[in-house]
Amino acid sequence: MEYVTLNNGVKMPKVGYGVYLVPPEDAKKCVLDAISVGYRSIDSAQTYKNEEGVGDAVAECGIARDELFITTKIWITNGGYEKAKASIEESMKKLRTDYIDLLLVHQPFNDYYGTYRAMEEAYREGKVRAIGVSNFYVDRFIDISKFCEIQPMVNQIELHPYYQRKTAREYAKKYNTQIESWGPLAQGRNNFFDEPVLKEIGEKYGKSIAQVSLRFLLQNDVVVIPKTTHIERMKENLEVFDFELSDEDMKRIEKLDRGRGNSMPHYDPERAEMFVNLP
Ligand code: NAD
Repeated sequence: MEYVTLNNGVKMPKVGYGVYLVPPEDAKKCVLDAISVGYRSIDSAQTYKNEEGVGDAVAECGIARDELFITTKIWITNGGYEKAKASIEESMKKLRTDYIDLLLVHQPFNDYYGTYRAMEEAYREGKVRAIGVSNFYVDRFIDISKFCEIQPMVNQIELHPYYQRKTAREYAKKYNTQIESWGPLAQGRNNFFDEPVLKEIGEKYGKSIAQVSLRFLLQNDVVVIPKTTHIERMKENLEVFDFELSDEDMKRIEKLDRGRGNSMPHYDPERAEMFVNLP
């Protein structure tokens, strides 16, 4: 496994295992499988409802806790200082750990500055090794970078060959924040796994479309957390450190950018109302 070093010196695996939409009853097995094939970083969230399964796997996998890198995210309905603070304790309990490696604000809605203050406090108390944000568009990212006390170490955003987020990456670099891609395989949407350019490039290296996509992101200094429940694909998604895409391949993949992603943008009023009205 290769690592990036976050702005506070903490090392984070470049490839992790995401558990979005892994049903709670399957989470323990899937995470144990992922760890058994070599994953050391697991990306969960309060709203995924599978922190317990992740926690059970962490407790039972036989790998020392300090070799694992566990991420969770504070959900909108736990927004604001007091609720966020309580939710951090609850997440640690569910994850069966006395510290979280990376804690993120899941979405910039509700009182996320209050949320972030609770996270800064947890960080200072040693309950969290790194803090950051997720789904922060450049405007929100610049704003929190200016008005926080601890610069986010990570911004986790939708990012893949169809949605390359060049400006978000530039500004993350400027403020010394690591970009992490969610949906690094475009969530398989828009016939991603039939993409002819990625297929053709992959054939040159004996690699799959998934591997080419992940490699493209890694070569752009982006951390990736692909999700699958199949152990063979878990392995495949880790085998991305034994080849390098040429400059020409990188440029061809850059041309696949469609400038929009799968998730509805936050400035869409329907989306915003959905988030602020969550029960
Ligand atoms: P993804 O891009 O990882 O795609 C997952 C899909 O690709 C699944 O259908 C899976 O079966 C398929 N797949 C995976 N590996 C494959 C392979 N080698 N060959 C063929 N098919 C393969 O999408 P995702 O799960 O949405 O994103 C990854 C992780 O990012 C999530 O699990 C979650 O941890 C995180 N995430 C975060 C947010 C956020 O708001 N912060 C949102 C979505 C996802």
